[in-house]
Amino acid sequence: MLNIVLFGPPGAGKGTQSQLLIDKYSLIHLSTGDILRGEIAKGSDLGLQAKSIMDRGDLVPDDVVIKMIQSILEYNLEAKGFIFDGFPRTTAQAESLDNMLADLNTAITTMLSLDVDDDELTKRLLERGKSSGRADDANESIIRNRINEYNTKTAPLKEYYNKQHKLQSIEGVGSIEEINTKLCVAIDNL
Ligand code: AMP
Repeated sequence: MLNIVLFGPPGAGKGTQSQLLIDKYSLIHLSTGDILRGEIAKGSDLGLQAKSIMDRGDLVPDDVVIKMIQSILEYNLEAKGFIFDGFPRTTAQAESLDNMLADLNTAITTMLSLDVDDDELTKRLLERGKSSGRADDANESIIRNRINEYNTKTAPLKEYYNKQHKLQSIEGVGSIEEINTKLCVAIDNL
């Protein structure tokens, strides 16, 4: 299996790049943010629980997102591989993911980390907020909170995967096509 953690702060372009990669490599896209927004749209208990946390720009509890990922992995045992987008976001999530994949006799192949500086991220997210309709894109202090959550709780995962010799850092500034080419080169060289 080809299992990719597409990593980076909010606004780094993970969603856009995931769409291009799933088509090229026939992978399943697993975005915990998209799944949670789907639960909110359905009005499920999980969605109701997550909405206020997400609107503040805080992280949803680990056990909630880990359970979501586990059930999707178990339903897709025949997949060629997965792109994890927005997951894992904490060390506990990364450890659980390693254990879940090991139970399925597979593992993370690589972490592709998109690097973009904080000011550029804020600019991109405020711009996206004009059309995304997302409460967490609409307000600069919530955006700053999301970036802060990333820097404190999520960025340390680069070291987690670096220790496993799986980290590849990619400059996340440039055109969509340029960044996509760099990601494909990194995957094809594996
Ligand atoms: P995203 O679409 O990835 O930017 O995620 C939007 C929001 O969903 C985040 O700000 C969190 O509140 C929540 N979320 C998404 N993925 C996770 C995760 N792996 N762990 C905790 N919270 C998450």
